[in-house]
Amino acid sequence: MSRPKYVASCSGGKDSVATLLLAAQHNEPLDEAVFSEVMFDETTSGEVPEHRDFIYDRLKPFCEKELGIKFTILRADKTYDDVFHHIITRGPNEGKKRGFVWPGMCAVNRDCKVPPIRKYNAALSPDTVSYVGIASDEQKRLARLDGIHKVSLLGKYGVTEAEARTLCEESGLLSPIYTHCRRNGCWFCPNASDAELRHMITHHPEMFDRLIEWEHEENVFHRRLTRKETPSEIKARLMSKPQPGLSSNQNQG
Ligand code: SF4
Repeated sequence: MSRPKYVASCSGGKDSVATLLLAAQHNEPLDEAVFSEVMFDETTSGEVPEHRDFIYDRLKPFCEKELGIKFTILRADKTYDDVFHHIITRGPNEGKKRGFVWPGMCAVNRDCKVPPIRKYNAALSPDTVSYVGIASDEQKRLARLDGIHKVSLLGKYGVTEAEARTLCEESGLLSPIYTHCRRNGCWFCPNASDAELRHMITHHPEMFDRLIEWEHEENVFHRRLTRKETPSEIKARLMSKPQPGLSSNQNQG
């Protein structure tokens, strides 16, 4: 009888990368790693550029050449551009562009992130085993796994979130995203922290300014990027404050 297929969901974050490393260390079966990439528009990734480069230039080759497994990148038909420019068809705002997504009910997750994963999973055999990157100190999330088709190797080998990070660092496989923030998400995420937003404004201003261009388009229903502020308000606020960790001379630029 052939064994089931083993697939690891991989965001490129420390817990999912540590899962790949643990599988190799402990000779756990693993056939494929799967990454779902949200796109900002047809050509621009929704991943923070440094993280996107880490996935394509470091993690994918590592999986293919060193682990000898397939690295699959999934994308939805829809991009954030489509989500933002969707025309509302009902209610008092009918005819307007939807605008930025709402924190807490992210239409990017619903329309861009999840659909290709659903489609991919639907094509898998029912006995497939999926590894998920949930650390041993995330007890509530671990308790939701069935342990048969959804398995956490971090849970199985007692690896905490902090230890997962160390494992990635020691293997040279920690995404550069962790130098300025604690999580990886889309660069236009409504839940982004000031550190994440500041990173985009200072390191990738041309990308952040695309959001300001959208904010100023006509007939946009939701112009706030985060719970409280539009992109231009965020930029004005963060640029008026000294950057943490820099001397006053550096901040004066
Ligand atoms: S990272 Fe943010 S914008 Fe991207 S799918 Fe998740 S909640 Fe939505």
